[in-house]
Amino acid sequence: MKKFKPANRIQDLQYFGEFGGVNPSISDSSTYTFLSAKTMFDTFEGNADGCYLYSRHTSPSNLYLGEALAEMEGTETANVAGSGMGAITPVLLQLCSAGDHIVSSRTIYGGTYAFLKNFTPKLNIETTFVDITKLDTVEAAINENTKVLYCESVSNPLLEVADIKALSELAKKYNLKLVVDNTFSPLSITPSQLGADIVVHSLTKFINGSSDTVGGVVCGTQEFIDSLRNVNDGASMLLGSTMDSLRASSILKNMRTLHIRMKQHSKNAAFLAGKFEADGLKTVYPGLKSHPSHELFKSMMNEEYGFGGMLTIDVGSLEKANELMELMQNKNLGYLAVSLGFYKTLFSAPGTSTSSEISEEEQKEMGLTDGLIRFSIGLDNDIERTYEMMKACMEEVGIFKETLV
Ligand SMILES: *Cc1c(COP(=O)(O)O)cnc(C)c1O
Repeated sequence: MKKFKPANRIQDLQYFGEFGGVNPSISDSSTYTFLSAKTMFDTFEGNADGCYLYSRHTSPSNLYLGEALAEMEGTETANVAGSGMGAITPVLLQLCSAGDHIVSSRTIYGGTYAFLKNFTPKLNIETTFVDITKLDTVEAAINENTKVLYCESVSNPLLEVADIKALSELAKKYNLKLVVDNTFSPLSITPSQLGADIVVHSLTKFINGSSDTVGGVVCGTQEFIDSLRNVNDGASMLLGSTMDSLRASSILKNMRTLHIRMKQHSKNAAFLAGKFEADGLKTVYPGLKSHPSHELFKSMMNEEYGFGGMLTIDVGSLEKANELMELMQNKNLGYLAVSLGFYKTLFSAPGTSTSSEISEEEQKEMGLTDGLIRFSIGLDNDIERTYEMMKACMEEVGIFKETLV
């Protein structure tokens, strides 16, 4: 197979602004004029390519950003949304009707989990949550009503890795759509090249990378994206989680440095993960040989971008985790905050924050322990210094005494 080069594909796009500017012009309009009434009618019918209608449908700025994201993911096209959840929920509602069934990984983003667990049952759409790394369990959960197989390439917060190729074979066998959330591993993993039908992202994280906005995208076939945008029954069009043009333009500009940032996030995370593990801390990072899916990740990845910027350590208890996080923030090693992909390191205890939608019992079952700290490693220029300072914090709160004996 020819090597897939996502960053080249983004970079090779060329567009100019209205007056020859090096950035595309921002479309600062909610509505668009038509020279003829007939064209307006055709546009409503979906038969007038290249005509804009109304900015909830789409706008030139959103199309530029969507095009860059589709190039990155190797799909025919893409539709941007006002948030990651604003991308994910319409996809599931477009693919499923009352009576349908979804098989989903149980270690997914808390909001997605809550949507499938608490919201879609109101519409008579049921979900079975499975350990996505166990293919026989996944297959056994599929029934005659199943329409969607849902997972994250690298899961939140446990960093489990989905075997996208094997899952796509299952999806084909049972005529399901495989939907993959690739938020944790942009550029590193290209799910469409491994057989995913639809790829979603929260742009809020690495892709935008400056923690100044929320945003989302759905990457897929022209046919599916058209169906999402259909004025009569398209979930994206009708639920209305549209991105503003000004924001689309600023995210597009940030995307141009994504490849450089991902390499640095990965380099820094790999360095810290190696050190933490050598220090005897329970460390989870897909780049470590000790990670159960290390080889699988390796077999799927676009190598130059590394194993990503996310890692977890387990410091034994929530009290210790909180103490350590507060101290690290005081020493300016990062921020005690949810989210990821910022230039600063961000850390949080998922059990009481981003995954608090998941009941304590279920958390225990999936291995989400109290002392777990999730790190999104920043772009630190001097990661050795960062490590030394983090280690000093760990010593100060007495982590080594407890976890090492
Ligand atoms: C943050 C996140 C989302 C939700 O995105 P928002 O932009 O916050 O709506 C979905 N999936 C994953 C993996 C995430 O990290």
